[in-house]
Amino acid sequence: MKILVPVKRVVDYNVKVRVKSDGSGVETQGVKMSMNPFDEIAVEEAVRLREKGVATEIIAVSMGLPACAETIRTALAMGADRGILVETDVELQPLAVAKLLKAIVAKENPGLIVMGKQAIDDDMNATGQMLAALLGWSQGTFASKLVIEGDHAIVTREVDGGLETVSLQLPAIVTTDLRLNEPRYASLPNIMKARKKPIETIRPADLGVDPAPRLTLVTVAEPPKRVAGVKVKSVAELVAKLKTEAKVI
Ligand code: AMP
Repeated sequence: MKILVPVKRVVDYNVKVRVKSDGSGVETQGVKMSMNPFDEIAVEEAVRLREKGVATEIIAVSMGLPACAETIRTALAMGADRGILVETDVELQPLAVAKLLKAIVAKENPGLIVMGKQAIDDDMNATGQMLAALLGWSQGTFASKLVIEGDHAIVTREVDGGLETVSLQLPAIVTTDLRLNEPRYASLPNIMKARKKPIETIRPADLGVDPAPRLTLVTVAEPPKRVAGVKVKSVAELVAKLKTEAKVI
């Protein structure tokens, strides 16, 4: 079974994100970029499935600027077998990514797609669900456990009230939550080996997809600054403040 793993290049999770002065987005110039953390978990899960003999090939796909090839290299160093870069300078929104992935699925015929539940840059949490709808495939979102049994994926999902287990007929889409696994670090020999693994570069037009944005970004703003706290001298003062000053935000 082939596994497709979409990996997004995002601002590194350690970087304090800054909003551009004109409110048109967040600053990415000169900022450290990395693989979306939920996608690292997806690559790790796919590699574990290959190590168990369930998967035969892992294809990492990234879409966007040419630098997304670095994100694919990271996936290859973690254990993916080959990469596909869909190169475009158009700002890609979830529906466009889902349509492009659908076209890649038609070419590659994977039995399973493992992807992040959300990208930490815009927190859309939409691409996996949209792709499932476009393909008509089952989806197991927010997975904290994944087991393949024959032609089914048994997915334990993190839901508000606890854990829900669903059984999906393959081919299917699984989106990863934080507790699914702890991704491995790529070792130096594997980073070297990854340089020789193939990355195919294509453009949206090659897949017959128009990736033009459908949503208009109105503005991006920093959250309001938190005001400093005060120390109270007694419980009575605290209770009084809670009664008169505290408000639900
Ligand atoms: P989102 O719906 O934008 O929060 O993203 C959910 C998941 O879709 C990510 O964790 C990735 O697996 C995938 N994805 C979104 N955008 C891209 C992209 N430009 N390239 C590759 N994968 C992507």
